[in-house]
Amino acid sequence: MSPINRKNSKTVYVGDVPIGGDHPIVVQSMTNTDTADIDETVDQIDHLHQCGSELVRITVNNDAAAKAVPYIKEKLINRGVTVPIIGDFHYNGHVLLPKYPEMASSLSKFRINPGNTGTKTRDKNFCTIVEQAIKHDKPVRIGVNWGSLDQQLLAQYMDENNARKEPKSSKEVMLDTMVESARRSSALAEDVGLPSDKIIVSCKMSGVQDLIAVYRRISAILDYPLHLGLTEAGMGMKGTVASAAALSILLQEGIGDTIRVSLTPMPGADRAEEVRICQQILQSLGIRSFIPQVTACPGCGRTKSTYFQELADEIQNYIVEMMPIWRDIYPGVEEMDVAVMGCVVNGPGESRHANIGISLPGTFEEPKAPVYVDGEHYTTLKGEGIGAEFRKILEDYIVRNYGS
Ligand code: SF4
Repeated sequence: MSPINRKNSKTVYVGDVPIGGDHPIVVQSMTNTDTADIDETVDQIDHLHQCGSELVRITVNNDAAAKAVPYIKEKLINRGVTVPIIGDFHYNGHVLLPKYPEMASSLSKFRINPGNTGTKTRDKNFCTIVEQAIKHDKPVRIGVNWGSLDQQLLAQYMDENNARKEPKSSKEVMLDTMVESARRSSALAEDVGLPSDKIIVSCKMSGVQDLIAVYRRISAILDYPLHLGLTEAGMGMKGTVASAAALSILLQEGIGDTIRVSLTPMPGADRAEEVRICQQILQSLGIRSFIPQVTACPGCGRTKSTYFQELADEIQNYIVEMMPIWRDIYPGVEEMDVAVMGCVVNGPGESRHANIGISLPGTFEEPKAPVYVDGEHYTTLKGEGIGAEFRKILEDYIVRNYGS
């Protein structure tokens, strides 16, 4: 049972993945390959999907990318990869979608940024994209982004605000414009004939408090499924923590039906890191389970040995490595908790709370490591082979409890 009460939203199918309503919150990601490079894009989509991305977005930014899309789709199908692919359109979606119908039909959703559909012909271009979605029976995400906010609408709101006796702050006007851009664009899409259960909305901002404020407002007035993400989250720890802070608060309030962490990867780093962070956010909140969780203490002066850190790391890496295999043959294993603790203070207690746990000896403690299984003392390990023996106990536990 989920610990959160989701806000009511319609259900939108992206390919065969349901988004919104009572359906699980969906993890998505975006490639950073040149879409025109078919093989590289196929490899990255495949990898992202294997790591748990349930939808993958690719940029469709020019003719070469548009031409590549059907081949990308075909190659994925030949590999047995059926993850829905979303086309990301800016500036020229109204040209590319009618020009390349095979590309349009290969995609499972079109992402439209209403701030990037043109200036004088903004609405006309937006409507052309929506008409293409209707023609190909595809949903759209109306993705407002404060970095590319509709400048006409913003100027109009700024002028109206300046005429007020007590003008709002420019930040407030920005938030109003974001919400209005999403509201107005989704209403326009429906006017063109797109059914309401073909629309997903996002309003991405790069500040945590701004993102929370804008999503609270948008969720109060629209019942389309909402895609959450802190845009331009940044690199490493900053991007991870900021995304987790923003998304967790909104998810806890029942806001959000699909999420992405827009992490700037370190050069050469694994793109799937953004997928793992999304999963960890959802699992930490108790919303969905993806992988067994390893609880480990931080260590302190009571344990000078780094052995327990090494063992925690070894077990964590082993679980990550095995999970693609376990997922299929041991359903439910993702719910398991494993504890690796550094001394007797919290070790036995935390280990008893886990499905399986080990309490390693701290400094000056007797060199033995009691192991607990489902809250009961199971055995006590000693000597050099503690790590290997604990892993064997872990494997046996998984086979016993999750094997068919
Ligand atoms: S369990 Fe022991 S070693 Fe770990 S943080 Fe607590 S007191 Fe320190």
